[in-house]
Formats: sequence, C-alpha cells, structure tokens
Amino acid sequence: MENLKSKKIGWIGLGAMGTPMAKNLINAGYNLTVYNRTSSKSNKLVEIGAQASDSPQKLFDETDIVFLMISDDYAVKSVFNGDEGLLKSSSKGKVIINMSTVSPQISRDLAKTCNENGNTYVDAPVSGSIKQATDASLVIMVGADENTFKSIEPLLEVLGKKAFLIGSVGRGNETKLAVNLFLSIITQGLSEVVLFANELGVESNQILNVINEGGLSSPYVKAKSQAILHNEYPSAFSLKHMAKDLKIAKENNLNFALGNATFESFQNAKETLGDFDVMAIIKYLKSEKY
Ligand code: NAP
Repeated sequence: MENLKSKKIGWIGLGAMGTPMAKNLINAGYNLTVYNRTSSKSNKLVEIGAQASDSPQKLFDETDIVFLMISDDYAVKSVFNGDEGLLKSSSKGKVIINMSTVSPQISRDLAKTCNENGNTYVDAPVSGSIKQATDASLVIMVGADENTFKSIEPLLEVLGKKAFLIGSVGRGNETKLAVNLFLSIITQGLSEVVLFANELGVESNQILNVINEGGLSSPYVKAKSQAILHNEYPSAFSLKHMAKDLKIAKENNLNFALGNATFESFQNAKETLGDFDVMAIIKYLKSEKY
C-alpha cells in the first residue's frame, strides 16, 4: 500500500468536529494544511504543526487528499463553487473525502463533476460526536469504489474506530440519514419519557436512574441524562444540524409515524433552540405541552 505519510493532506472545516479530527491527523504525523471560513480558528492547529491556507482553491492546489467537515449542502456549495472554491482549481488526481452530513444528491453530483475534472470524490459521514471525534472512536460510513476505499482506509483509521464501505458515492450519506433518524427518535423519546414521568410525579433523577441501571441503558442516554438533570444544553451535536438532517431525510421520502413526529418538532424548535444541543428538544416539547 502507498505510504500516505508522504502525501499532503488538506482539511476544510474547523468546527466542533473538524478541529479534533484534524488534530488527530497532525498527532499521527500527517502533513496537514487547514482552511476555515473564519480564519482565526486555524490558529490552534498551526500552533501544533499545521499550515494554514487562505482559500479552498489554494488548499486544493497544495495538497493531495482533501477532507471536508462543514455544516451542510449550502456550505459544501460555497466551498466547491465559491470565487476561490475547489472547482476553480485545475489540479487533477486528487481525492476529496467529504465527512460532513449532506444530501446523497449533492454527493452524487459532486462525484460526477470531480470525476470529469480528473479527481475522486468520496462521501464519508460519521457517527459519534465531539468525544468520539477527540478520542478517534468515530464510526465512518463510506460511499466509494473499493480501490479508493482501500487507499484512504489508513487515514480513516486515524479518525475513527471503524470505517464501513457501504457502496457507491451517496450510500454513506444515506446510511447517515438513517442513523440520525434513530438518534432523533431516541432523543425525542427520552424527552417524552422524562416529561411523562414528571407529570406523574416521578422526578427526573429517579426515572433516569432507573433507565440507566436497567436494560435500556446506553452511553448516549447516560451522557444526555446529565444535560437533562442540569437543565443545560451546550451544543455537542447542535439541534439545528439535526433539523437539517431530518429535512434531508424528508426530501428523501422519510414517511413513518415517529420520523414525521421528530421532523416536525426539530423544524419547529430550531428557530429558538438551534444553537443548543439536540437534547434541548426536551425544552421545546415541554413548552408545547404546558
Ligand atoms: P459546526 O461546529 O457548526 O462547524 C461547522 C463548520 O462548517 C465550521 O468550520 C464553519 O465555518 C463551516 N461552514 C459553515 N458554513 C460554511 C460556508 N458557507 N462556507 C464555508 N464553511 C462553512 O459543525 P460540526 O458540529 O463540526 O458539524 C460538522 C458536520 O458534521 C455537520 O454536517 C454535522 O451535521 C456533522 N456531524 C456533527 C456531529 C456533532 O456531534 N457535532 C456528529 C456527527 C456529524 P466557520 O467556523 O467559519 O463558521
């Protein structure tokens, strides 16, 4: 296998997830160049050995393999099609690995464009949040051909504990939509259970202790229990990003009872609670009821 340590790696997007993931590549000894729309966020990475680039186009010209970890389809369009976007470059032979949660359609369209330009596009969204991004225990869902997957697997192993090749480009995003549907249902379900228990006169810590000691316990429910008990929801995975993912799921024919219910509540809550954690949906559900 080709030695990836001799390659120049680019990283676009230094938000809550992108920053710890990029750090893991630097700590693993990779030569990393970073770009972020808000350029000051690059400073911390430069301090530990990264180079900073001032446009996606320049970063693309200067590197061999480029990761993206940015918000949504709109951000991806800006990074590709902007005045100094990736598509302004005439470089060839590059691999672009988009780890953002975006629509399967945008991935398929970009894969076609990149292919026509002599480059390769891979979708590789992740399951896990800031903690898993930091300790490199993300689970990665990949849409790519097998050879491309094999060629980038050592990099994915630096970022996560397991990378699954699901199928061709777009399949990673489709898998991620399904995973986040599950996440939204669990999050809304946990909220409703706590609110119902409270209505009956059972305190939040009592119902959560029972759940967390029993067969329904999970690392996710344990972590979110703390947020509920403190009634504080600093963002790990923001509610607005979940609303975005459910909107993409809806555009991809999501039509089940629980899915429709979570779609509605996350869209309604995002205006006031969008920058808080997904678990803040409990505040919206409580305010709707009383
Ligand atoms: P975040 O903290 O909100 O960071 C978003 C990043 O996207 C920032 O670097 C931001 O740049 C950049 N960005 C936004 N709009 C842009 C635009 N128009 N042009 C260029 N760059 C733009 O988000 P995150 O939590 O890291 O999530 C990143 C992706 O991973 C999302 O697709 C999310 O759904 C997915 N994800 C998140 C989690 C999680 O737990 N947080 C878990 C799994 C998957 P600025 O710094 O300039 O704003």
